[in-house]
Amino acid sequence: MSGQSCCLFPILLSLFPGPCLQYHDLMELIDTHCHLTHGRLRPTLAAVLERSAAAGVGRLICAAADPEESRLALALARKHAHVFCMAGLHPHDAKSAGEGYLEMIEGFCRADCNVALGEIGLDYHYDFSPRDVQRRVFAEQLDLAARLNKTTVIHTREAFEDTLAIMGESRIDPSRLVFHSFTEGPAAARRVLDLGAYISYSGIVTFKHAVELRESARLTPDERLLIETDAPFLSPEPVRKQKDNEPANVRHVAAFLAELRGDRLERLAEVTTANAVRVFGC
Ligand SMILES: [Zn+2]
Repeated sequence: MSGQSCCLFPILLSLFPGPCLQYHDLMELIDTHCHLTHGRLRPTLAAVLERSAAAGVGRLICAAADPEESRLALALARKHAHVFCMAGLHPHDAKSAGEGYLEMIEGFCRADCNVALGEIGLDYHYDFSPRDVQRRVFAEQLDLAARLNKTTVIHTREAFEDTLAIMGESRIDPSRLVFHSFTEGPAAARRVLDLGAYISYSGIVTFKHAVELRESARLTPDERLLIETDAPFLSPEPVRKQKDNEPANVRHVAAFLAELRGDRLERLAEVTTANAVRVFGC
């Protein structure tokens, strides 16, 4: 299915308003990063999608961490017109990159409904794959993204300098990069923004200790701001105790960011949705 039908979401809502339509019901949010194929969401996915629609989440972008998730994400996106997908090999699984893995990811990236290569990057916090392998697999996938001119979703944890260095050596267009579930402080945020990349904020920005991250969120200009849940992980405040996060909760991330930035929720929704449409073409 093409994404065009999804763009009608706000129009349809205005044409067919419910009995108690509020202004905020016309607002559309996009969860730019959720793992809908994860075992913690899959068993109740129909209800999860229902709740996200009720919360005004008009479109969802399903992330992928390995070839199997990439396959499942594509199948899901083909089934639901408002779901789009990514394909990629996460740094945790870099060690599993066998012969032909790049061709496999390329195949998924060329499929309809695919809007990004991701999530890829470096994770030196868990070190589930040796760092030299992570760096090689990251560089190879960036090259692929550059060749396909594909939007690319970056995961970086305790590896910011190496991430930037490898990106600098690649031919990737920085304006096609999304730093997902950003966790860095203002100095790092400025460097990402200077490159011309997008920054996506998850529920982490609502956590009490995330003082530096909130500085980053304050200084990120409207036109580079994205929101996500990273569900089933990272439930935001005020539902942080909810074990399994879900796309409906992107509304809490949006509301928190609006308040933090002294903005109206409706405007923040409009801005972040426009950005998501621009960078992902969803
Ligand atoms: Zn993720």
